[in-house]
Amino acid sequence: MKEDKPIGKSYDLVIVGGGVTGAGVFHEAVRQGLSPLLVEANDFAWGTSSRSSKMVHGGLRYLKEGKFLLTRSAVRERQRLLSVYPGLVDPLNFIMPIYDGHGPSMGAMKFGLSLYSLMAGEKQHQIFSRTQTLGRVPKVCQTNLLSAVGFKDAQVDDARLVLRLIFDGCDMGGQALNYTRAQSIERNAKGKVTGVHLKDTETGLRLLVKTPVVINATGAFAETLHPSPVKGFHIRPLRGSHLVFPGKLYPMDRVISFIHPLDKRPVFLFPWEGCLFLGTTDVDHTGDVSKEPCITMDEAEYLMAGLAHILPDLKLSLDDCIASIAGVRPILSKKKVTASKESREHVVWKDCGLVTITGGKLTTFRLLAADALRAAQKYLPKCSKNKTYPTKIASCVESGSGSGAKLEVATKSILDPGTSKLSPKAIQRLLGRYGKRAGDMAAICTGEDFSSIATTRTLWAELCHGARHEQIRHLSDLLLRRVRIGFFYPMAVWT
Ligand SMILES: Cc1cc2nc3c(=O)[nH]c(=O)nc-3n(C[C@H](O)[C@H](O)[C@H](O)COP(=O)(O)OP(=O)(O)OC[C@H]3O[C@@H](n4cnc5c(N)ncnc54)[C@H](O)[C@@H]3O)c2cc1C
Repeated sequence: MKEDKPIGKSYDLVIVGGGVTGAGVFHEAVRQGLSPLLVEANDFAWGTSSRSSKMVHGGLRYLKEGKFLLTRSAVRERQRLLSVYPGLVDPLNFIMPIYDGHGPSMGAMKFGLSLYSLMAGEKQHQIFSRTQTLGRVPKVCQTNLLSAVGFKDAQVDDARLVLRLIFDGCDMGGQALNYTRAQSIERNAKGKVTGVHLKDTETGLRLLVKTPVVINATGAFAETLHPSPVKGFHIRPLRGSHLVFPGKLYPMDRVISFIHPLDKRPVFLFPWEGCLFLGTTDVDHTGDVSKEPCITMDEAEYLMAGLAHILPDLKLSLDDCIASIAGVRPILSKKKVTASKESREHVVWKDCGLVTITGGKLTTFRLLAADALRAAQKYLPKCSKNKTYPTKIASCVESGSGSGAKLEVATKSILDPGTSKLSPKAIQRLLGRYGKRAGDMAAICTGEDFSSIATTRTLWAELCHGARHEQIRHLSDLLLRRVRIGFFYPMAVWT
């Protein structure tokens, strides 16, 4: 076979996988003064990280399982992300109706939510009477309805979070390539990592990149590059699917959280980008993980049964559904338990310069990044050594935030009356999604471009900017991940 062409430049580390985990490692590595290369076999955020429930949350279910530390760190991350990325990560209200004889009792919920509030450092929950619940959740099932609890978490545009981390990292000196697959790892005679073989998945161009460290952040694909070192402990790909409906069918400003009558799992009906999302499922994904995952009819019927249970008078049917989105959770499993009972915690595996990080949640990507870099520390150049990662992660606020001199310039350009008459909320949204690059948008777009596309919140300017400056190769990259309107086309957008 022909040898891969080595490229002159070597990197302190190569990160494989352009989902939120890889993007988080990339961003943090650049911030630490390292020189990283990130490669993604498909488009950035092509995998699970654009197919999540878009919640930045502590995870009440972990409390129920007694995982207090996990919940606490996720709650703290949520609070940090809310302050670092306003306009991208925004507060979101939840309501959970409480029933006599079905689902958790008010006592259990009050206890759990008091702990949740304590972890956040402020009271973030309230109790609604039955009458108040009926006012807040029209058409909710009234049989045995007692009351409801309300609480706060947060919502994110998951793909834009990945892109923000990657492009901020590139602006600070990192390099990131989409449509570039890591084929295999190169090692020396002692087994130590020395490089990685890459292939452009479209042109077929092959390269050998020199590096002492490879971070394998490929989610459900992790064992392709790094078979599990723990006997009997493997990735168990679990599919989660959502159904999407036009928002006008049930206008709502908060998430309805409820317990599915069939298997007692929590399910959510939530608003996002003018649509209603219903999800999720949790089933074994037996298909090829490299192919687009799809919802099955069984999953769709399961979700519809849940909806009919909580909102019996809404009478939505699958005919009203405009889209479905399915993703595969990278779950590490030792002994097969019921899918929803599998741990969502992440793992780190090390092998002479190869570090694999997989599992976990979107919410905790910065903690995963810290763990991965800590595990690779021995092989990284001096500048990243002797750093206490948790402290550094906390101070990440400045580099990723909506503040700073460059961002001020971006804000000014968008605020320029010649450019736009955007509302403060719309400006915040742009700054959250694009950071200082929001200013570039103002440079290539005129006032009219800052108007919305049909009834969506997406601006024409975002489409122009995505097409020109955000490394797209296919229309789907633009419409599904740079902006998200492709999911809702045509009915939700154009009617
Ligand atoms: C339905 C669902 C709902 C969820 N909801 C939430 C939620 O609300 N909140 C939350 O916090 N978490 C949620 N999660 C979990 C969260 O989405 C995942 O933990 C997270 O997105 C995983 O990110 P990742 O980067 O590890 O994997 P991915 O996003 O899958 O990224 C891995 C990437 O690696 C690439 N890749 C694979 N092999 C190679 C190779 N050889 N070379 C180069 N690239 C390669 C893939 O193309 C892929 O893009 C949800 C998960 C699912 C499935």
